[in-house]
Amino acid sequence: MNTECIFCKIAGKEIPTEIVFENEDVVAFNDLNPKAPVHVLFIPKKHIATLNDLSDDDLDMVGKIFSAIKDVAAEKGISGGGYRVVANCNKDAGQEVFHVHFHLLGGRALTWPPG
Ligand code: AMP
Ligand code: ZN
Repeated sequence: MNTECIFCKIAGKEIPTEIVFENEDVVAFNDLNPKAPVHVLFIPKKHIATLNDLSDDDLDMVGKIFSAIKDVAAEKGISGGGYRVVANCNKDAGQEVFHVHFHLLGGRALTWPPG
């Protein structure tokens, strides 16, 4: 837990947020500023600042996040149409919140390549 971190506060229920998915390691919630009809953020409960800071101990959690993404995509009805999973790391990718998170984006046709 990083007391300055907004996503730690969401994971710790200090900030009331509508939780879309939760298990022992992972929390998912709707993005505050959605970029697509479905825009859900998946985070580890453990504070990890960037993808660069993942350790081998975190691999199980990353697998659980992708399992959760698959399940939430199915619940939201976007599995067949398709969706995108994005994780921004550091400045060049535009990372704004320094607690690892994976964006699930879908519900419309997404352009490629990203900006
Ligand atoms: P990134 O640029 O990958 O760091 O994305 C951070 C995302 O977190 C952005 O899409 C924000 O809209 C989203 N965000 C920031 N604060 C909150 C919050 N309190 N609740 C939900 N989403 C948030
Ligand atoms: Zn955090």
